[in-house]
Amino acid sequence: MEKMVIGVIVSVGEDPAEGLNKARTLGIKTVQLGTPPPQYFSGERKEALKQAIEKTGIVVTTVFCGFIGESYRDIPTIQRTVGLVNPAFREERVKRTLEIADFAKDLGVDKVAAHIGFIPEDTGSPLYKELVEALRKVADHCRNNGQSFCLETGQEKAEALLRFIKAVGRDNIRVNFDPANMVLYGTGNPIEALDILKDYVVGVHCKDGKWPTVRGQLGWEVPLGQGDVGIERFIKKLKEIGYEGPLTIEREITGEQQVKDVMEAKKLLERLRM
Ligand code: MG
Repeated sequence: MEKMVIGVIVSVGEDPAEGLNKARTLGIKTVQLGTPPPQYFSGERKEALKQAIEKTGIVVTTVFCGFIGESYRDIPTIQRTVGLVNPAFREERVKRTLEIADFAKDLGVDKVAAHIGFIPEDTGSPLYKELVEALRKVADHCRNNGQSFCLETGQEKAEALLRFIKAVGRDNIRVNFDPANMVLYGTGNPIEALDILKDYVVGVHCKDGKWPTVRGQLGWEVPLGQGDVGIERFIKKLKEIGYEGPLTIEREITGEQQVKDVMEAKKLLERLRM
């Protein structure tokens, strides 16, 4: 694959080809695929999705895990509902993660990614140890599938994520680096964070955001190039660390404005990746 190929995140709805066709119309050749609804995990629907991928010629670089019941409304809600941290959901979601990994394998995709939730700060706590164990299970399953499991950045500081990756101790645990999340969650300068995590980064989200103005609250997402990430510096830093993977655009709105913003982001990235 060409270096720093531009991608976009797409979801799968009723029509398996809709998101893929949208990407193709925009001249985008790679996607990260959100977890499709359950009916796509077997039988005809899965075949239809595979065919849609083949027909569009789009490369799926990553399948991104999503779980029923997750909400990104505010920080306490995210802490309670997102990923694998909350013991109330963990077992069932680890199981689902393994199913998603198998599904990805079936599509020929060698990277699975997730927001696993806020990694606990107390590395001696039972919760931390349980999360390490859960990630080992996921990593080992992905290894058998020939896959990496990528942790999305932003809900904790880069140092904490690095410490956690080392605690898990599996060489197929990697990072999907989202610079905007570092800003939105107020977890640190994204360029410095990229330096800390550089040996693990195999995917990035090209997204932008503004710092929170109230402590304990989230910042807000804005079109690429209009936020506090410093997208020029970000791409420059990616080149410096020798990153050659896809630049996947993420714009977390819907409708026509999303399409416009993705087109603008693509133009900007085409210039910066040169
Ligand atoms: Mg992201």
